[in-house]
Amino acid sequence: MNYDFDVAVIGGGPGGYVAAISAAQRGKKTCIVEQNSLGGTCLNVGCIPTKALIKGANVYQQVCNAQRFGVEGVDTAKVTINMEKLQSWKDGVVKQLVNGVKSLLGGNYVTIFNGSASFSDEHTLAVGDQTVSAEYIIIATGSKVAIPDFITQEGENHIVTSNELLSISTLPQSIVVIGGGVIGVEFAYLLNKLGVKVTVLELMDHILPMVDREISEKAQIRMTRDGVTFHLGAKVQKICNNHVTFELEGKTHKVSADLVLMAVGRKPNTEGLNARAIGLEFDRAAIKSDDSLRTNLSHIFAIGDVNGKAMLAHTASVEAEVAVSCICGVEQRMNYCRIPSCIYLEPEIACVGLTEAQARTEYGEHVKVGTFPAYANGRSLVEGDSDGMFKIILDSQYGEILGAHFYGQHTTEMIAEIAAAMRAEATAEELISSIHPHPTVSESIREAVLAAWTGKAIHNL
Ligand code: FAD
Repeated sequence: MNYDFDVAVIGGGPGGYVAAISAAQRGKKTCIVEQNSLGGTCLNVGCIPTKALIKGANVYQQVCNAQRFGVEGVDTAKVTINMEKLQSWKDGVVKQLVNGVKSLLGGNYVTIFNGSASFSDEHTLAVGDQTVSAEYIIIATGSKVAIPDFITQEGENHIVTSNELLSISTLPQSIVVIGGGVIGVEFAYLLNKLGVKVTVLELMDHILPMVDREISEKAQIRMTRDGVTFHLGAKVQKICNNHVTFELEGKTHKVSADLVLMAVGRKPNTEGLNARAIGLEFDRAAIKSDDSLRTNLSHIFAIGDVNGKAMLAHTASVEAEVAVSCICGVEQRMNYCRIPSCIYLEPEIACVGLTEAQARTEYGEHVKVGTFPAYANGRSLVEGDSDGMFKIILDSQYGEILGAHFYGQHTTEMIAEIAAAMRAEATAEELISSIHPHPTVSESIREAVLAAWTGKAIHNL
């Protein structure tokens, strides 16, 4: 069969654009179809814009608190945040990155189609009035905000999603955040730092479910101290105008705010794809794919949020490279146990692998756990914020790293060390004998490993 392309990619997010570049670099004639803006959720309404706004909020806080470092002449009563300027700075960062993706695709001779792709048959896509055929097709159509059916809505609509909130130019006075996962907690943090009164309603009895309980509780205590109100175990029932009704411990409560952020999760986006019609199998809303990202049709791959496995940008990008490798005849498989997660609060949270509770369930007594407090680390003190904790979970026989959960300054930049060590199956002894520079927060990693493996950290009693 003659096809127009060797590989066609649907969706230009961190899954899709990485797949297209990788396929082109491996000599495949490649095209990518994007219906909106290149960069997908991540660059346009996800990872990057949230972190750009959080950076602005942190700078605002630093200026307000500069006096403790001896900075004089700042009248904190006059320090304000100009949301329009912060937004335009954020938009500039997004624009630069989106243009960068466009250049990378062009530079690798990837053909870009602007429009929405829909399967005509197993090898053919309709994009507007054009038809594109390919030997292999990679679906990377991402996800969209999920609004649960059990929440009823009445009256005026005060509900916003992360998409709208990322472009507001006027801050609300108050907001109710429904959902204490990463997106809900990052927005709660951001808006609190910008002076908004924030209430978080979370169904579970703790926030940030992927993070070790001890760490997530510390983050919650810190955010509470900073003024965020949390109601855990709260089942939201109804949103009427700007009032949110929820059930907690058998009683009905009501909280009111200018806006309500719906942050209860995201669902795979397969709208308009015609995927079921060509026989693709689904796992609930997600397109089913195996650890090599193949769907039930072996020439079609589903990567990123659309396969519903781990909704993170770096997972989408690695899945892209695994799928392309398989297309090129070099079989690879994903390992979903070593995917780091980062949460951009101040201090930051970063984790990889099992939580202590998961490790104890899986390995029973053969687990060693060590912690090291951030206040015992010189660099954390220098940074002016020594809240936090470093936790390492090892298997007690060989000292293999099972999990690492950090709450401290710059930890999102440090977790890759542990991910690499886990990939290399490095042991506690090997991490202990790796020299960590001084003064850095990363010294805390070595100290936590020492605490776990030998029972004694050098700089903590
Ligand atoms: P997407 O990035 O969603 O890209 C899919 C693309 O496909 C979109 O551009 C869409 O327009 C296009 N598309 C869909 N259907 C079609 C079609 N039929 N034809 C053509 N094009 C189509 N992850 C992290 O790792 N770190 C973070 O800090 C982080 N922060 C986040 C903050 C927020 C507020 C949100 C919402 C998400 C965040 N995420 C974060 C998650 C991350 O954005 C996603 O996991 C990631 O973007 C998924 O990449 P993807 O390529 O699978 O899909």
